[in-house]
Amino acid sequence: WTHKIPVNDELRSQLLSSSSLIKSPEGKAETKGTRRQKVLDFEQQRNVSIVHDEPGVTRDRVYTRAFWEDKEFMVVDTGGVVSVPSSESQGSDALAITRGGGPVAVAQALKDAAAAGLPALIERQAASAVEEALAIIFVVDGQAGVNASDLDIAEWLRKKHSNKFITLAVNKCESPVKGLLQAADFWCLGFTPIPVSAISGTGTGDLLDDVCAHLTSLEMRDDLDNKEKERLAIAIIGKPNVGKSSILNALVGEERTIVSPVSGTTRDAIDTEFTGPNGKLFQLIDTAGIRRRAAVAAAGSKTESLSVNRALQAIRRSDVVALVIDAMDCVTEQDYKLAEIIEKEGKACIIVVNKWDTIPDKNSKTTVYYEDDVREKLRVLYWAPIVYTSATNNQRIYRILEVATNAGEERCKRISTAILNQVVQEAVSLRQPPTTRGGKKGRIYYCTQAAIRPPTFVFFVNDAKLFPEDYRKYVHKHLRQNVGFPGTPIRLLWRSKT
Ligand code: GDP
Repeated sequence: WTHKIPVNDELRSQLLSSSSLIKSPEGKAETKGTRRQKVLDFEQQRNVSIVHDEPGVTRDRVYTRAFWEDKEFMVVDTGGVVSVPSSESQGSDALAITRGGGPVAVAQALKDAAAAGLPALIERQAASAVEEALAIIFVVDGQAGVNASDLDIAEWLRKKHSNKFITLAVNKCESPVKGLLQAADFWCLGFTPIPVSAISGTGTGDLLDDVCAHLTSLEMRDDLDNKEKERLAIAIIGKPNVGKSSILNALVGEERTIVSPVSGTTRDAIDTEFTGPNGKLFQLIDTAGIRRRAAVAAAGSKTESLSVNRALQAIRRSDVVALVIDAMDCVTEQDYKLAEIIEKEGKACIIVVNKWDTIPDKNSKTTVYYEDDVREKLRVLYWAPIVYTSATNNQRIYRILEVATNAGEERCKRISTAILNQVVQEAVSLRQPPTTRGGKKGRIYYCTQAAIRPPTFVFFVNDAKLFPEDYRKYVHKHLRQNVGFPGTPIRLLWRSKT
């Protein structure tokens, strides 16, 4: 998710042009200094229109992506945030960092904010932005000192937004020593003042650090909430007789209720919900679950053949697929078909080599050789971890849950745009995109993770046609080597920037 920050003109210009953040007209990540990696990424807008817009002319919100360390923001220009009486040329600006929702949604959602006890000087639009904010940066004029509107806004923020993270930026504190004194004046507003200078950039790093620390704690809270709520859906897929039902039984016990009657005609998957040893909730989607031995005998061998359709339905409903193979048979043609589906559907996957007890004379090298064989035959799932199990001996059965959980988490993982662009730049510097006969060369402007489930990366390039398949594969491989994502497929999309 992104954090949206509506900012006032001055701070916004500073964010985009100061020495503490590096701007890049073409959205290319640059680095300067050793303190931190700073990237500004202009996905939708060019800096020209943002830095040089004239006061009073651009009053609509302008959204620009920005990054601070590993946090991603939308820098949003709310234009005139506060209307101050004409006698005062400089007012206080309330800035907001918000999550999700476009400007329309923001405006729509809280049209009535003003009605709810809002100081008259705060414009509705700004109030809406503040309302939706995750954190608020309250900007005051350090040279003018505390004025009545500052006190008004401070009171409003404390009353109405006490549940939000509010940071007080005291602007125009150019001199470090005097700046501290200027800032100290503002303690009376009830927030910790941070001296900043929009002109020189001093203090803005601390300000962003402060805000980002808060966002990190929010993310951690979100993660915890999600972990508690989340139920991992695992589809147990594989040829008949590889041991899918046995694995399910070993995991949840023989007593589980079989709900669907078996007629040989309806053989849809059934789901079993249970809590794993670590307290995590699982939903097992078992395509063979309704087959009981007696029923199988009655249904005959026809129903034994692999139903790709049925498997597909189960795969679609899952987060992670456990592709079960019989250790003795190893990978077969049918497994290959299933593997292709799993990859195509963008599902996380683990390969379960069951009946490991039937492999004679195992030694420390057995799994190494076996893995080579599996990898060779199932190249499409080269990223999938392998678990060797024996359902009849209960060997490593719970390992399935552990590995599937990891794979499921990787499928939802986001990596920061800063790190991503660093890795991509590294890939390009190690191997340049090819030059065409006409002298044209592919150029990657920047890359961003557009989605999860599965992780999807969009590469904005000068011309996607200048990136041949082998180069794309190379970047794909480099990305995996450096940022991982074990257990899940990833997608790389190449977009020409016109
Ligand atoms: P499914 O069709 O994939 O659900 O397979 P089942 O769970 O019905 O198992 C098919 C046969 O393989 C049964 O006779 C099981 O007892 C046997 N089986 C399952 N898992 C194992 C295992 O880990 N080791 C051995 N030796 N036999 C197993």
